[in-house]
Amino acid sequence: MKFIDETEIHVTAGNGGDGMTSYRRARNRPKLGPDGGNGGNGGDVTLIARKGMNTLSSLRYRQMYKAEHGGKGASNDKTGRCGQQRIVYVPCGTVVVDRESGDLMGELIEDGSRLMVAKGGKRGYGNTHFTSATNRCPHFSTQGQKGENRTLKLTLKLLADVGLAGFPNAGKSTLLSCMSAARPKIADYPFTTLVPNLGVVDTGGFDGTSFVMADVPGLIEGAAEGRGLGHDFLKHLERTRVILYVLDAFSFEGLTPEDAYEKLKHELSGYRPELAKRKSLILLTKLDLNQEEPDSLKRLEEAREYFRSRGLEVMEVSSVTGAGLSDLKHKLVAILDEEIALEAAEDDAVSPFSSETESGVLPS
Ligand code: GDP
Ligand code: MG
Repeated sequence: MKFIDETEIHVTAGNGGDGMTSYRRARNRPKLGPDGGNGGNGGDVTLIARKGMNTLSSLRYRQMYKAEHGGKGASNDKTGRCGQQRIVYVPCGTVVVDRESGDLMGELIEDGSRLMVAKGGKRGYGNTHFTSATNRCPHFSTQGQKGENRTLKLTLKLLADVGLAGFPNAGKSTLLSCMSAARPKIADYPFTTLVPNLGVVDTGGFDGTSFVMADVPGLIEGAAEGRGLGHDFLKHLERTRVILYVLDAFSFEGLTPEDAYEKLKHELSGYRPELAKRKSLILLTKLDLNQEEPDSLKRLEEAREYFRSRGLEVMEVSSVTGAGLSDLKHKLVAILDEEIALEAAEDDAVSPFSSETESGVLPS
């Protein structure tokens, strides 16, 4: 599967129909008066965001989108029909930029949100329209205007099913590289990940299913106030279905997994309260380290207990030995299936429940 998140399309609105110059006639009595009708307006091109579309890839097959022209006005005061608008569906989260001017035209975030990207040309008027007290029989009509056309650059902010949230050095990049074909840069110092790295995780099923995991720049404290790299990180997490809190199991110098989790969560809710409520999973990493020390094992047990007592599910992995990776993958697939089913149910019916419960799961 190829992850495409940027493409260009050309949109052309319909031209307005021309107005007509004509005259009512009766036998032997030419030009009783004007009867030329107006043209119809040209159709607009409108983008609509649709849930369930994950990439812009379907827009690659067809790059020209045209709306219908307005019809011409006719004799007998007949108005031309309006050109039909052209709808182009895009995934939620699409950012639209006019390629020529570089201007941001808009963002389609919510399912069903619309953005008119090319305005249809205005109709021309028939000679009847210009009739007035001083000009009872105008001999002119106007032409319809041309519809707008432009090339759009569409960018999908980021569409990842699973977003990794964690402090620098928690092991996010390593995890992503172990679970997917992506090979993000890994180094032994903070802030190695400057741009989000996407990895496609093959779930191993026969149906070729896969999900997208995003490793995003490490969080630093105060990200919610826009300090440092952290703000970008938060923006990227907005577009994920599940947040995986990646916590270094043994990095106890100052930051226990419990502290790390609470700080991360605090940053998320400071930025957007919904983010902290999103479906999430706790992941303790680097389990291969310090296994012999009874002291650290005791603290690890405390950390497990801390999360469990709060009703949070904990998974444990080592990217070095590979232990736990396959369990994690299956767990994520199960959660994603649930989330997608929930979204579909929300689409189908107006749910009497709020989906904003603490766990992100509807009460049954
Ligand atoms: P990130 O900042 O969260 O992306 O963390 P990285 O993936 O860059 O990892 C930070 C450091 O931890 C690197 O030196 C990795 O080699 C190391 N590391 C990551 N995962 C594991 C693991 O499972 N076991 C061990 N022993 N080291 C790990
Ligand atoms: Mg990294």
